[in-house]
Amino acid sequence: MTTTTKGLSTRCIHAGDALDPRGAIHTPLYSHSTFAFPSTQGVLDVVEGRASGSLYTRYGLNPTIRSVEEKLASIEGGESAWVFSSGMAAESATFLSFCKAGDHIICIGDVYGGTFELLGENLPSLGISTTFLLGSELGGLADAIKDNTRLIFFETPTNPNMEVFDIEAIAKLAHARGALVVVDNTFATPVNQSPLALGADLVLHSTTKYLGGHSDLTGGVVIGASKLLLPIWTWRKNLGQMMAPEVAHLLARSLRTLVVRVKAHNESAGLLARRLAEHPRVERVSYPGLPSHPQHDLAKRQMRGFGGMLSFLVRGDATATAAVVDRLELFSIAPSLGGVESLVTQPVTTTHHGLTPEERSRRGISAGMVRLSVGLEDVEDLWADLAHALEG
Ligand code: PLP
Repeated sequence: MTTTTKGLSTRCIHAGDALDPRGAIHTPLYSHSTFAFPSTQGVLDVVEGRASGSLYTRYGLNPTIRSVEEKLASIEGGESAWVFSSGMAAESATFLSFCKAGDHIICIGDVYGGTFELLGENLPSLGISTTFLLGSELGGLADAIKDNTRLIFFETPTNPNMEVFDIEAIAKLAHARGALVVVDNTFATPVNQSPLALGADLVLHSTTKYLGGHSDLTGGVVIGASKLLLPIWTWRKNLGQMMAPEVAHLLARSLRTLVVRVKAHNESAGLLARRLAEHPRVERVSYPGLPSHPQHDLAKRQMRGFGGMLSFLVRGDATATAAVVDRLELFSIAPSLGGVESLVTQPVTTTHHGLTPEERSRRGISAGMVRLSVGLEDVEDLWADLAHALEG
């Protein structure tokens, strides 16, 4: 079925599904590592790129993997997609594909702790340098771009401060100076934000989060124009970063409900953000949907919904904050996000534990900060849990 002109929910359900000769309602799971050919010519046609076909799963030439990649490309509005064994695999293959020794990357704002380590420690060991610009330093972006700057990377909204960056403006500036723009759209999801339509060159996701949606798979994806994705293919193949077919099948299953899930996450997180903002034990709530958010106007322009993630500052020290977190019953203490179950974390204990205290304080990540991944439980139950924990 041609789905390119269809709505997002329709694409989530039908895009990429191959017509199955045995009548299966959507693409079956082909867990096989290799595929047989009727003749030597048939193998050569696929190996030499004259025909499409299944060949070897680590290459990504597997029907279940190709099917979920078509679905992902369609829902992000990109030409093609490559899936990976994790979000970090997608990030590392992308950086390695476009940067060699002597090249430079700019990373804007807060990023996931693992990304921070990859850009700040692993890539420099290969001669690739990164300038980290805080959101408040964005005015210096033009000066930070050098002749060897290959790409600009950022999350929006960011983790855990929920800062929002203007994708269109950054892309204009980057393109005028010959740099690529890569956006991690994990927090927003394609339901709430379309970075490619705003001028980004590539979009990345940890599919472990909202796209998987049930805290039961680990994966990543990079989406964009086919020509740009070409060099990433060989890095993925030779670093052996392929998503397992079983995971690809599970991911496709989850994507079919992405729109309803994310809309429900948006609604519950919005309600909890408003109530937390009025609570006397809460100093500040960071959620792009609140009028008090510093980039609320930009968020309204750039996003269709504000997502299921929020962070807030508890009035009190680290011990008082940990006590609030420990009193929660429905929110599980866990570092991930984007699943149907609500999760809570203090970034200083998990996602940003690896940062030095100075770097954490420069980035406004304090011991009193609590990050919530608002799940799909009944929102009044979630509020009762939060109110009880804050008041206990
Ligand atoms: N990007 C964001 C925004 C994340 O939160 C994470 C992980 O928490 C990653 C990327 C890395 O993804 P993964 O854990 O699937 O490698």
